[in-house]
Amino acid sequence: MNEQIDIKSMNREELLQLMQSLGEPRFRADQVFSWLHQKRVARFEEMSNLPVALRQKLEGRCTITNVEIVHRLVSKLDGTQKYLYRLADGNCIETVLMRYKHGNSLCISTQVGCRMGCNFCASTLGGLVRNLTPSEMLEQVYSTVRDSGERVDSLVLMGIGEPLDNYDNVLRFIRLLTDEKGYNLGQRHISLSTCGLVERIYDLAAEDLQITLSISLHASDNETRDRTMPVNQRYPIEQLMAACRDYFETTGRRISFEYALIQGVNDTPRHAEKLADLLDGMICHVNLIPVNPVEERGYRRTAAQDIRRFVDTLTRLGVNATVRRELGSDISAACGQLRRQNEKEEGRVQ
Ligand code: SAH
Repeated sequence: MNEQIDIKSMNREELLQLMQSLGEPRFRADQVFSWLHQKRVARFEEMSNLPVALRQKLEGRCTITNVEIVHRLVSKLDGTQKYLYRLADGNCIETVLMRYKHGNSLCISTQVGCRMGCNFCASTLGGLVRNLTPSEMLEQVYSTVRDSGERVDSLVLMGIGEPLDNYDNVLRFIRLLTDEKGYNLGQRHISLSTCGLVERIYDLAAEDLQITLSISLHASDNETRDRTMPVNQRYPIEQLMAACRDYFETTGRRISFEYALIQGVNDTPRHAEKLADLLDGMICHVNLIPVNPVEERGYRRTAAQDIRRFVDTLTRLGVNATVRRELGSDISAACGQLRRQNEKEEGRVQ
């Protein structure tokens, strides 16, 4: 038997070809696209303006990707909702809906696990299992919208996984989600976060997208970054910063840098000064995040007065920096923690 077609991962051009191969008129492609991405139905049966014979043909050849809610946790502190979704093959991923004054932001996963090995991160502990398909990324948005009854106004690719390590699927996902005949999210409302796969940053700059690039920097010298983020041994800071400058020149989009403050590792005024040196002359923003302690790692967050001192040093040196407000701290909303907890409960890991 032929493999089933993942119809929700197809773009309009490909749907058109599919319809033509089935001897259907062109307008059927837009109808199907709308059922999948605007009305977001789960079954071909529900596509009521398609002839029954066509629905049956599609049913025989294609699957409509769905995800199943395993857990939904709602923070009592700030209304953040965290979903643990199960995929068709049994793997689980996390999605987090955050409420801000300016609207709802959704944080989605791009892979099952991760192979980047950052040693402060829970998502990488079990390594990479597999890439997510475009439809599995879309379903995190669509299922959350369906379940919560709320609109997603902005999206961050900051859940489990390294988006640029799943480049083709992530780009296809972004184009599908921002398609004017689909969910139609504005590209400017999407942030893609990467630990720094340099070649892919150059590729991304050439894609002609309006998204925001966010770099997980977390250290301002190679010695520290080599220790906490193995990717730095392949792409040292100088190469990463060169790629960032190129990205800004090509796209005109301001870059944002993530910097998790870890006590005694990267949080002295000297580290802040080095960071300011690195970013000298760049139009950018620094997001400081008190590190989320991960049981297996033994890192602690920087004390409040040292965070203040770090921010003050950056500000004095002309760097635009803010401390990220923590959301959902009562529901393990931080990256990879819920999936890990669930695996422990199911006895899959120690
Ligand atoms: N792989 C991508 C996106 C997923 S991680 C990346 O590296 O950017 C999303 C963000 O959470 C990254 O900035 C990552 O470094 C950060 N992060 C991971 N573990 C963390 C922890 N324990 N505390 C604070 N931030 C963490």
